[in-house]
Amino acid sequence: MSQRVYLDWNATAPLRAEAREAVLAALDRPGNPSSVHAEGRAARHAVEEARQAVAALVGAEPAAVTLTSGGTEANALALTPALETAQDKEPRNRLLVSAIEHPSVQSGGSFAPDAVERVAVDGRGVVDLDDLKARLTRRPGRPLVSVMLANNETGVVQPIPEVARLTHEAGGLLHVDAVQAAGKIPIDIKALGADLLTLSAHKLGGPKGAGALVRRDETLHPARPLLRGGGQERGLRAGTENVAGIAGFGAAARAAARGLAEDGPRMAALRSQLERGIRALAPEAVIFGEGLDRLPNTTMFAVAGLKAETALIALDLDGIAVSSGSACSSGKVEPSHVLAAMGVEPALAASALRVSLGWTSAESDIERFLGAWKKLAESLGKLRRSIAA
Ligand code: PLP
Repeated sequence: MSQRVYLDWNATAPLRAEAREAVLAALDRPGNPSSVHAEGRAARHAVEEARQAVAALVGAEPAAVTLTSGGTEANALALTPALETAQDKEPRNRLLVSAIEHPSVQSGGSFAPDAVERVAVDGRGVVDLDDLKARLTRRPGRPLVSVMLANNETGVVQPIPEVARLTHEAGGLLHVDAVQAAGKIPIDIKALGADLLTLSAHKLGGPKGAGALVRRDETLHPARPLLRGGGQERGLRAGTENVAGIAGFGAAARAAARGLAEDGPRMAALRSQLERGIRALAPEAVIFGEGLDRLPNTTMFAVAGLKAETALIALDLDGIAVSSGSACSSGKVEPSHVLAAMGVEPALAASALRVSLGWTSAESDIERFLGAWKKLAESLGKLRRSIAA
């Protein structure tokens, strides 16, 4: 059997060799990072080294990085009314999230459901700045705004510096979910103007189950941590640290930062080859976010009449892993909330496939995908002709 082709990197990236090595080394060390003896200090050293690498990836101070169990937890930690500095302890009373956020942001964290508002996106999947501005000015308050840096389905990069300007002018704070962007495009928390930023290890080649909430500086912090108990993570996240996961996260962050300048253009070139090939076989294909600032690795496309779930299974049987635009985490296939927010017709949305590449993707992977896509496009053509006859 020929080798499988993995083209679902936005779901999760394969573990980088550097991360694997760091995880295994950490698993073999006995110490608890809170212990003062040599074993404890060695574990502490691994955690702090990782914290530095994670901070460096996004231009932050290590002391402003809180290590968590992943992106979901970091989002939940960030989205709280109780965001304080020493000078400002008044709670946030509104949460504005874009309509294309990940479910962990859509859920609203610890805000009351009626304090959460959805900010519209336009038909291209870009956050609607006029809607954001109108919502921010319509009702004075102390808003927290959450807009992702790049969308996980379409890869469309959001205008975060403008979002930050509007948010700050209205006295708000900005949280940015950078889970999908990290390791694919350069990130600088200060240049973005973000107050809080979420990262996840497994999207950049680290292990699953590690992530971080990064703050613009140490002074801004959630006053009511999700996990209370021991004083780990400067009191912001109790519990003995997942040293192996964190060490792997750090190694992956370091490798991602090193590879960024080369990996980005290489993935973009492969993606162009992929999109040309998709179009050559199905000229009517809609490529979402085409022509916009997009992550270099992501293509989401749809061809009317194609059944995404059936195509996914056919591709899987052909040895190729991609994903569809719908979510089936609850066992029931739901249409993509991202495409729905963009106003995409449900019938077209039901045919959407997402192909996402990574740093080890090769031309041969694209060729294998296009070979399988040819069969799908041909059978779709036959189906259309039989309906028309
Ligand atoms: N945010 C975005 C944009 C994501 O794509 C994901 C994962 O798919 C998450 C958050 C959640 O991250 P994790 O899987 O580490 O909880």
